[in-house]
Amino acid sequence: MTSPPGLLPAPLTRLSDDEDMFRQAVRDFAETEIAPLVHDMDARGEFDRSLLPKFGELGLFGIDIPDQFGGAGGSFFMSILAVEELARVDASTSVLVDVHNTLAVVAVKQFGDRALQAKYLPRLAGGEVGAYALSEANSGSDAFALECRAEQRGGGWLLNVQKLWITNGNEADLFVVFATVDPSKGYKGITGFMVERGSPGFTVGKKEDKLGLRASSTTELVLDSCEVPAGNVVGEIGTGYRVAIETLNAGRIGIGAQMVGIAQGALDATLKYVGERKQFGKAIGEFQGVQFQLAQAWTELEAARLLVYNAARLRDAGQPHMLEGAMAKLYASQAAEHVTSLCVDLYGGYGFTKEYPVEKYYRDAKIGTIYEGTSNMQLQTIAKAILKTAS
Ligand SMILES: Cc1cc2nc3c(=O)[nH]c(=O)nc-3n(C[C@H](O)[C@H](O)[C@H](O)COP(=O)(O)OP(=O)(O)OC[C@H]3O[C@@H](n4cnc5c(N)ncnc54)[C@H](O)[C@@H]3O)c2cc1C
Repeated sequence: MTSPPGLLPAPLTRLSDDEDMFRQAVRDFAETEIAPLVHDMDARGEFDRSLLPKFGELGLFGIDIPDQFGGAGGSFFMSILAVEELARVDASTSVLVDVHNTLAVVAVKQFGDRALQAKYLPRLAGGEVGAYALSEANSGSDAFALECRAEQRGGGWLLNVQKLWITNGNEADLFVVFATVDPSKGYKGITGFMVERGSPGFTVGKKEDKLGLRASSTTELVLDSCEVPAGNVVGEIGTGYRVAIETLNAGRIGIGAQMVGIAQGALDATLKYVGERKQFGKAIGEFQGVQFQLAQAWTELEAARLLVYNAARLRDAGQPHMLEGAMAKLYASQAAEHVTSLCVDLYGGYGFTKEYPVEKYYRDAKIGTIYEGTSNMQLQTIAKAILKTAS
């Protein structure tokens, strides 16, 4: 891509006035409204629903939904900024907003026909929480081996579905659910459907008890002969694999942003701590050994942020971003794991306790190498893309 004559491309991290204002608003909100709840939500393993209307007031449910559908008409990059800023304070809160905006909204906005968009985008923008249901007991990394069935009945569909690991399962109102309309067609039978909580046959099952992201609900989803109207197909029948691939290409950038936010939150706390904690008669931050570790961590964090911002800006520019999104997620999750582990180390024994914030950042960072495609799956995507370019 070249810039118009006389114009240099803007540095990736330079924000427009709108982006900067929005980021600051989310940061202020996270620090004043979310931070006081974080410890308790983590300890109880439950999201505080009193936050949901406040997310709505801040426009977090329709960040890049066009204003004609009741959204804020912002960019995908702004969703990324929101996810990063929320994760800096609480990764569980950030994943609720992330899955809503970068998976559920993307599926309807990018693949829904006009009628589906008109039906659901205003509801998503208005605060009905979105979720995304692809994984099953026998289908994780091999996502297109899914077995759940959708059958045409009368004027609509009957879904028999058992999904696992559904983020926002307890809070969501609207679910993008993938099922096969014809198992003999393999991945070409997979189809996406919009399913509303409370439809006949709809149940949310067991909630997982997790290492991290404890306040984010991760649940089973059971649809037992659940009736879904004909118009609720997301995209064309049999093209659900494309809907899934392309929504996850966007979603992974969101997970990268979440990892950047987690690492930033842990480092911010640690930079303060190393100035306060004294050993051998001086602050531990005065030891060169500690300074070098922090400098390395800061550099990794910035590299991760650049990968994430680049992928998000490519998406907004309508450019391919599958490779860039995979690299962003792969690297940001590795950086977050390393940086948060260092932060625990630099807190010493206190870092291992729940009295200080870094053990939670460390636990929350771990999920980055697993969901929306494990690190091995990102490596597979990257390898395929670079080998194709070389051939
Ligand atoms: C907290 C949480 C939230 C989640 N939220 C959602 C959600 O909202 N919606 C949803 O649909 N899913 C969700 N998931 C599911 C998640 O996307 C899957 O767990 C993930 O894709 C991995 O699948 P799996 O657990 O079946 O692992 P498996 O696929 O069984 O993988 C196990 C290991 O084998 C490796 N492996 C597998 N195949 C290969 C291969 N070909 N080459 C090399 N290595 C391989 C993997 O990298 C991994 O290390 C969530 C999971 C968690 C834990």
